[in-house]
Amino acid sequence: MFQKVLIANRGEIALRIHRACQELGIHTVAVHSTADANAMHVRLADESVCIGPPAAKDSYLDISRIIAAAEITGADAIHPGYGFLSENARFAEIVAAHGITFIGPSADHIRVMGDKIAAKDTMGRAGIPLVPGSDGGIGSVEEGRKVAESIGYPVLVKAASGGGGRGMKLARTPADFDDAMLTAKSEAKAAFGDDAVYLEKYLELPRHIEIQIAADSHGNVVQFGERDCSLQRRNQKVVEEALSPALTQEQRAEIGEITRAAIEKLGYLGVGTIEYLYENDRFYFIEMNTRIQVEHPITEQVTDTDLIREQIRIAAGEKLSKTQDQITFRGHAIECRINAEDPQTFTPSPGKITDFHPPGGPGVRFDSGVYDGYTIPPYYDSMIGKLIVFGDTRELCLARLRRALSETVITGVKTTLPLFERLLNEPDFLSGNYHIHWLEHWMEGAG
Ligand code: ADP
Repeated sequence: MFQKVLIANRGEIALRIHRACQELGIHTVAVHSTADANAMHVRLADESVCIGPPAAKDSYLDISRIIAAAEITGADAIHPGYGFLSENARFAEIVAAHGITFIGPSADHIRVMGDKIAAKDTMGRAGIPLVPGSDGGIGSVEEGRKVAESIGYPVLVKAASGGGGRGMKLARTPADFDDAMLTAKSEAKAAFGDDAVYLEKYLELPRHIEIQIAADSHGNVVQFGERDCSLQRRNQKVVEEALSPALTQEQRAEIGEITRAAIEKLGYLGVGTIEYLYENDRFYFIEMNTRIQVEHPITEQVTDTDLIREQIRIAAGEKLSKTQDQITFRGHAIECRINAEDPQTFTPSPGKITDFHPPGGPGVRFDSGVYDGYTIPPYYDSMIGKLIVFGDTRELCLARLRRALSETVITGVKTTLPLFERLLNEPDFLSGNYHIHWLEHWMEGAG
């Protein structure tokens, strides 16, 4: 096992990784920008190194500074968390070139899944069901128009290097096509420096359902069931639940095994998530994330597994702690992402937290790096914590969510907490009857 792990991230995930390391008897090194000197994970880590000014490009995204910190402290592994450098194949290669273990998959797997055209092709060949679409990238607008006709409108033009919902344009009719393709291309060029695009059939009202997998270096590959992340705003997940209220036991077992078998075929190593859209009882692959995800705790709760611990164990060459037969599902879990934002306009609301009281009691977990008197810096993502509730039934879980929200106190900044309280009055949310556009429609309606 590793002696010392450097945590190349910030916020709640940095603290989450520190906790997993502590329980494994591993020393931790926090690296931080000047804006994060007072962060909780920096205080708790065994060692800390300031790696630069607030701007992420000069600190959390600066590979040379992170490598230097690892060398100075003698860390033998680096955990990248999510976001920042977690899906940067070059970073994974540079870490390895310095004789340090990258806690994640091979650079080759990161690279393939980072290019959505290559990812679709690879996954299709491994037996994963795909969204009908172009066979690879689209060169000219003329070619695109022809392919769109053959797929059938509406079609979505998507950027090969896309992320965070950017570089994606809908064409409802042939008249919209040229504009959609040219806008998607220029947006992708500006955001990702790559204007390659491809076409997909646009699914009208799907759910977003994703499967958590893990694979070790001894040939063991397992799946931990699904998460339903259909409640989104601008392609960003807001609330997630495990398991999905929309699937039957048979559907769950079937897509789980198709996914597991494909990952085995790929020879993948580490944890990962395969994202699907689900409509009319069918699954359609959209992308694979080659890192731990924000919403991993709900899977941890329903499978009684520490996924970060598994991830670290795998990187250290150990076996997965569970076989597929030992992964069983118990109860239900829901996660709410709490952002320091105005709950109506979603404008970021950084600043000092004047009063803080996290919820507790049975079936409540609060993953956050904030504390009483902490000042949320304005430079990074506005998510400040995750409220995770769990219980034997979905009904109990919802009751706990209501109770936990009523206990939570975060003052001094605006947060999205009131949004979840309002959501709990919605029959469609309570019955699990929603799709990827439901939340936005509801928010428009609620004004
Ligand atoms: P990104 O990497 O930018 O997040 P994804 O491919 O994961 O892009 O898609 C993000 C979101 O866009 C999905 O969760 C879904 O809401 C929507 N989306 C993507 N592909 C389609 C499609 N073919 N039809 C309908 N909606 C889609």
